[in-house]
Amino acid sequence: MRDVPLAELSRWKIGGPAPAFARAGSERELRELLAEIGGQPVLVLGGGANLLISDDGPGGPVLMLDGEFKAFEVRERSIHCGAAAPLSGVVQAARRAGREGLWMLEAVPGTVGGALRMNAGTAEEGIWDRVLWAEALWPDGRKERLGREDVGPRYRGIDLTPAAIFLWAEISAPPGDAARVEEEHGRRREAKLAAQVYDQPTCGSTWKNPDPPAPSAWQLVDRVGMRGACRGGAQISPKHANFIVNVGGAWAQDVIELMVETRRRVHEETGILLEPEIHFWGFPEEVLRELGALR
Ligand SMILES: Cc1cc2nc3c(=O)[nH]c(=O)nc-3n(C[C@H](O)[C@H](O)[C@H](O)COP(=O)(O)OP(=O)(O)OC[C@H]3O[C@@H](n4cnc5c(N)ncnc54)[C@H](O)[C@@H]3O)c2cc1C
Repeated sequence: MRDVPLAELSRWKIGGPAPAFARAGSERELRELLAEIGGQPVLVLGGGANLLISDDGPGGPVLMLDGEFKAFEVRERSIHCGAAAPLSGVVQAARRAGREGLWMLEAVPGTVGGALRMNAGTAEEGIWDRVLWAEALWPDGRKERLGREDVGPRYRGIDLTPAAIFLWAEISAPPGDAARVEEEHGRRREAKLAAQVYDQPTCGSTWKNPDPPAPSAWQLVDRVGMRGACRGGAQISPKHANFIVNVGGAWAQDVIELMVETRRRVHEETGILLEPEIHFWGFPEEVLRELGALR
């Protein structure tokens, strides 16, 4: 499909159309699609919960995994997941089955594939601390089963070429004390719902927390007086200063302006250069450089 609007597929409800867009419901379909476009890299969209798409579009063909990739199954000591499986479904299945260790993903929106790419979790723990293996396909048709040591997981990221498409993962989830599992999930969910924003379009934490002992990102944004600041339809949430919300009709450019201004002020006032947690599609290199998004 050509010129497919992406805004509705992003949690921010922001983003221009994709020049080409396809859904792949099976590995065979995925391989056919990749062959059709000559093995060039594609942009893989998960739940759009950590992604800012340019108003001019993503700058390349976009792929969503669907069908069999949405499945997941609780096994003896693990959960077998398709990369398009909703994280919330996987986490609630672990919780109901009294399985250990997935509470760090409680109330984290998106898909398993997005979580693998982001090493989603808390400041202390990421999904790769639990991944037994993940299978990835490259646009040239090569498929590999990867372990933790192959992807170099770090705080909110991994060292793996962006061309890799995660298909499946096996996540450790051994049986635990059901009451403790329930209590831990409940406690974390409650804390997140109380402190973060779930009732407005947002992509969660905008900036990574700098290394300790520096203050956390929200404290820095607060310190420079940007909490509540608005550009067009985008606002730094009055509830959580590290979240930017779309209060109505926001453009990607509005979010960029808020981010650039925040980063500049934090740098001037504290000497700290914030690094974005969110990923960007379709922006020129100079914008990414200004945001600190080029590693
Ligand atoms: C209210 C709220 C709270 C949040 N809380 C947390 C939190 O506590 N901890 C945390 O870590 N994050 C948090 N997030 C951010 C977000 O939920 C996570 O980063 C999540 O893992 C994103 O998954 P996604 O499927 O939406 O990825 P997307 O936003 O769709 O994509 C993110 C990146 O992953 C890549 N990607 C997606 N699927 C695949 C795949 N199959 N193969 C290869 N690459 C892929 C994309 O290309 C992109 O580069 C929060 C977000 C919100 C809105």
